[in-house]
Amino acid sequence: FDMFVLAFAERLFRPTFRKDDFVLGKKLGEGAFGVVCKASLANPEAAEKVKANGVMQGDVVVKKATEYGAVEIWMNERVRRACASSCADFLYGFRESKAKGKGAEEYWLIWRFEGEDTLYDLMQSKEFPYNVETKILGDVQDLPKGISRENKIIQTVMRQLLFALDGLHSTGIVHRDIKPQNVIFSEGSRTFKIIDLGAAADLRVGINYIPKEFLLDPRYAAPEQYIMSTQTPSAPSVPVATTLSPVLWQLNLPDRFDIYSLGLIFLQMAFPSLRTDSNLIQFNRQLKRCDYDLVAWRNLVEPRANAELRRGFDIMDLDDGIGWELLTSMVRYKARQRISAKAALAHPYFNREGLLGLSVMQ
Ligand code: ADP
Ligand code: MG
Repeated sequence: FDMFVLAFAERLFRPTFRKDDFVLGKKLGEGAFGVVCKASLANPEAAEKVKANGVMQGDVVVKKATEYGAVEIWMNERVRRACASSCADFLYGFRESKAKGKGAEEYWLIWRFEGEDTLYDLMQSKEFPYNVETKILGDVQDLPKGISRENKIIQTVMRQLLFALDGLHSTGIVHRDIKPQNVIFSEGSRTFKIIDLGAAADLRVGINYIPKEFLLDPRYAAPEQYIMSTQTPSAPSVPVATTLSPVLWQLNLPDRFDIYSLGLIFLQMAFPSLRTDSNLIQFNRQLKRCDYDLVAWRNLVEPRANAELRRGFDIMDLDDGIGWELLTSMVRYKARQRISAKAALAHPYFNREGLLGLSVMQ
């Protein structure tokens, strides 16, 4: 109860926005549930309001969403208070009654503009992961190009994404749509941040809204279709606040759904050939045939691996295969056998001492 009062009061005293405050610019994305544009502030008053929201002047990102935007605003407000650094900086969300036409209303969501590169965009480049290295460090490492250097860059991205995910999960939020398209690079903080809370579920207060039309992205979805077991009462069709025992979280480990998706991103970063849609889909088919056993998949493809695939395994095998070990503990059939975000951050893969870290963990 207190949480809702505080949230309401906090929001009440923040300046409000309306659609006339923004001049829409370049389109950044468009999905089934809305359109996303870069936007500038329409007048000095709007700029003042942005400042009062705790942000220096600059462009913003506007998402015009369908009725599902209500839940997305709720999730962004929650993240803003509980784990702000995990996601893109949210400024404000409001409802607009649409001009005549289909659909009674739409929701506008406003973020600070932090940059327009998604991890997807960056991974499409032939330069990946070196294009990320310059972004994160602002400079290049004094190391020859090669798998060791690439591994270090991928390690940094993975650490940032696990950190962001741990923030969400510790808050009680499961994202459910983790994929490179839903990760942006924030130029100011030089970190990757998660976006698109449109499919997220907040299990601690029981806000868990899955619109019927919403399908989890099959390319990144873990084999379990639902984040809660079928024994769990079905999700409410409208956002409601109920008390949902944290015990359910423990039992079902819904956070491990995101871990599986992040494991696939890890895989794509290490294996260039798996970065295309068609190859990822083919990989998923192969993995399913191997009963979601990555080791079995490796045994299947490694003997006839081309140079590109070979290179992926070589990256994963560095430091006695500590990367491969982390990957296989993320991509597992059973949710409860997958590592948590917090445990993954403590995994020796992220330890510079490598093997030394292994003995510490045991
Ligand atoms: P959808 O539900 O359509 O997937 P998203 O919130 O993922 O909506 O936004 C669609 C696209 O818009 C993203 O993949 C990204 O390219 C861009 N985008 C969304 N939010 C931001 C943001 N805060 N900063 C930069 N780009 C963004
Ligand atoms: Mg998206």
